[in-house]
Amino acid sequence: MSGTSDPEQHARDVHDWETDVDDKPRLECGVFGIFDTENASSLTALGLHALQHRGQEACGIASYDGQRFHNERHTGLVGEAFGGELDVRLPGRTAIGHTRYSTSGGSFIRNVQPMFADLESGGIALAHNGNLTNFKYLRDRLVGEGAIFQSTSDSEVILHLIARSRKGKIVDKFIDALKEIEGGYALVAVTNKKLIGVRDPLGIRPLVLGELEGRPVLVSETCALDIIGARFVRDIEHGEMVVISAEGMQSLKPFPAKRARPCVFEYVYFARPDSVVNGKSVYEVRKRMGRRLAEESSVPADVVVPVPDSGVPAALGFAQEACLPFEMGIIRNHYVGRTFIQPTQGAREHGVRLKLSPNRSVLAGKRVMLIDDSIVRGTNSVRVVRMVREAGAKEVHLRSASPPIRFPDFYGIDMPQRDKLLAANKSLEEMAAFLEVDSLGFLSVDGLYWAMNAGHRDPAAPQYTDHYFTGDYPTRLLDRELAEGRNDMVERQLSLLVSA
Ligand code: AMP
Repeated sequence: MSGTSDPEQHARDVHDWETDVDDKPRLECGVFGIFDTENASSLTALGLHALQHRGQEACGIASYDGQRFHNERHTGLVGEAFGGELDVRLPGRTAIGHTRYSTSGGSFIRNVQPMFADLESGGIALAHNGNLTNFKYLRDRLVGEGAIFQSTSDSEVILHLIARSRKGKIVDKFIDALKEIEGGYALVAVTNKKLIGVRDPLGIRPLVLGELEGRPVLVSETCALDIIGARFVRDIEHGEMVVISAEGMQSLKPFPAKRARPCVFEYVYFARPDSVVNGKSVYEVRKRMGRRLAEESSVPADVVVPVPDSGVPAALGFAQEACLPFEMGIIRNHYVGRTFIQPTQGAREHGVRLKLSPNRSVLAGKRVMLIDDSIVRGTNSVRVVRMVREAGAKEVHLRSASPPIRFPDFYGIDMPQRDKLLAANKSLEEMAAFLEVDSLGFLSVDGLYWAMNAGHRDPAAPQYTDHYFTGDYPTRLLDRELAEGRNDMVERQLSLLVSA
């Protein structure tokens, strides 16, 4: 990428980024599990519907009816896949579900979850939110040992590891597998007797325990409890495995104790604002991000306008703190499906306008303070800014309610590579020029921690996973190290395996 003093280069930058469809930022996944309940699969479909924002590419449900497992997997949205009334008739009183945007593996149906395996000890269906950072290493090792993979998804690696454990009981096999995997994950699994939930050792990905008429429910976010009328019980702790059976619920801690580091991006962008993640209301945190942003980087403006929907709570907080009117200067069309936006250059030109339209009565003649939750590649933002200006705004000031994103993610968010991240490649001035704004500002990392009510970031033991802003990755990144040829020890092991 280059600076923007050369207009032709600027046009090329925007164009290059737009045409790079494979490197779009991607959503992660949502998981749901319910134990021993009437209409388990219908409730699962409802729960997935509430988790739709975590993945719109595909979804699936697996259930167990006391004798057999049933599994239905589809591409597309939950409502389309499972019928308008979400009246799913998969038999059985225990079910798990998954909604997906591929962060690992392509989008073909064999990669859609839950994944099912028939083990020596009985069947198991698994749904996984997150990403393994040693996926490729494990997969290569398993293939080297003769494993045959049906998919390119990292969830299948976990099933293989479970299958290969020498332990007798399914829970012990599962624990053996967990000891091999690294990264960020929330897992739910159903076996012929149990519903199992696991959260990674640092609690990077969220997982929540609820209860519906005395029956346990496991969900990625509390909004999936609300939709089925279930009560919030507690977050699954980092590094905790819960095993639910007819005998009750057992809590296991299979990993060495570590301090939790949940993903801060859940609050910035992913989670639904009505969810409570790790005990904090996402909506309130986002509003506080906006309040702090106003303190840190306000300039004279007439109106605060959010980029809908993700920028709305922060813009509200900003407007309240800056004592400025909050107005919906951009209206979002909620009926634009992802599939409607074709991956051709011509159609993409219209992409933003299909989804967002300017509200001229709010924008014309105004100094507009535009608020978004984050700026990733900058390509959407530049279009929104142009749209606001074309609608007659006198000045356009853009503020991001999170710090500059400078580092890619490997834990299930699928942030683009560094060379595609705007803030990783340009100075603030260059970014402002690229985005065609009169001024640009980002929330500070300290401001982000303040918004989380977390005091200051502790550099020696950060309270959250925040590498996108700081470059401080919470785990080893084995696959990346291998790809960069940085891990001699593992390379030696791999070459020994190949030559064996
Ligand atoms: P851009 O201007 O292209 O960087 O897009 C910024 C928009 O992307 C913001 O409105 C964010 O809400 C949204 N966004 C941030 N992270 C992600 C992500 N991982 N996947 C999809 N959209 C995202």
